[in-house]
Amino acid sequence: MVSYNFFDRASCDLCGLCLNQCPVLEMPIDKAKIEFKKLVDGQETEVLTKCTSCMSCNNFCPSNSRPYELILYRWYERYKEKGLPLAAKFFLPYQFPNFGSALLEQLPQDENKTVKSWAKLEKHEEIFYPGCNMIFLSYLSFSKIFEGLTFMGSLELCCGEPWYRIGVLEISEQIAKKLEKQFRELGVKKMIIPCLAGCNMYKNVYPRFGATFNFEVIPVLDWLWEKLEQGKLKAKIKLNRTVTIHDNCQSKPFGNKYYDLSRKILQTLGANIVEMEHNRDKALCCGMAAFAGSHSVDDILNAAVRRYKEAENTGASALALYCGGCQWVLSIAKILTQGKTPIFHILELVQLAMGEKPPHRNIERAQKIFDLAMQEAVKVDPQQRFWPQKIE
Ligand code: SF4
Ligand code: SF4
Repeated sequence: MVSYNFFDRASCDLCGLCLNQCPVLEMPIDKAKIEFKKLVDGQETEVLTKCTSCMSCNNFCPSNSRPYELILYRWYERYKEKGLPLAAKFFLPYQFPNFGSALLEQLPQDENKTVKSWAKLEKHEEIFYPGCNMIFLSYLSFSKIFEGLTFMGSLELCCGEPWYRIGVLEISEQIAKKLEKQFRELGVKKMIIPCLAGCNMYKNVYPRFGATFNFEVIPVLDWLWEKLEQGKLKAKIKLNRTVTIHDNCQSKPFGNKYYDLSRKILQTLGANIVEMEHNRDKALCCGMAAFAGSHSVDDILNAAVRRYKEAENTGASALALYCGGCQWVLSIAKILTQGKTPIFHILELVQLAMGEKPPHRNIERAQKIFDLAMQEAVKVDPQQRFWPQKIE
């Protein structure tokens, strides 16, 4: 039986640095100590409503006690007592019909065909695993850089990360077991993955729930860098633009590695990097996980707008990111604020440097996602609760 509390109480001396350094709460140190003690003791604390699940606090803890895991566990206890807000159901993986299945029905023909071809699950030793975030932005795959790769993935093979990010840890355990079995049957030995969320789930999170994945997981940033270094990808055009980078929350468990690598790739392609006010360990969530504490859709949009405005304030000519989910949430913020700074997935910037013309459909896709969310919001009673069926 797995305990869902992965916080290491024995190593924590209640110093409060995690909440003091938190880029959202920014608590004075004395208050941070008091609020963290409440969290440890299972008492009510504003941390549980204001936290945006950005994962940074794990990196601020000098004892490696994993305070973020304690927040997730307290949220889990809250769900066990009160259930989950029904408003979340439409956005969660494996809750069909949901926003993902509705969005797939509205994809343009070329993407619809592509996504259907990825959904064929067959035995393969090496796969490119698009994950939901890339399935929703499948036009990112329309490029020569992926020639020779076998794409395999579907909404039924989702890594399930959102369940973990909002703390429904029992469901995370169920998904871990399901995926362990499925990938074993598919004989996968090597997975290239465009999303660090999935990478963190397979490498770090699901093993804590007792799952074993007998395959190598290679984030697309490593894959791109290796191809650039080996000369297998050759830039034809210098990017020659100033770019700011949004570090996604799931890069944080890997320390500096992907903060550095994303910048190194773009600099190699001729970009000049300017930093947002909050970057690297202090990066703010794109907004996607801001629902976790407050259960408010408005908080998702407010967090997204705040983050997008930080990018605009840098004066960069592009906002680059390396997560599909961040791409569509921040693109919604761009629509809402009528922002000027275009948003590019790092894959699109690589494609531009290779002399390709990526379809760049982020704004139309974000508008569709926003419309679906609004249509759902008027149907659901915000007070209603549910508990998900077992995922297997
Ligand atoms: S997860 Fe992020 S927002 Fe939440 S307490 Fe930790 S650092 Fe703060
Ligand atoms: S989790 Fe770490 S940073 Fe937070 S109070 Fe404990 S020792 Fe300090």
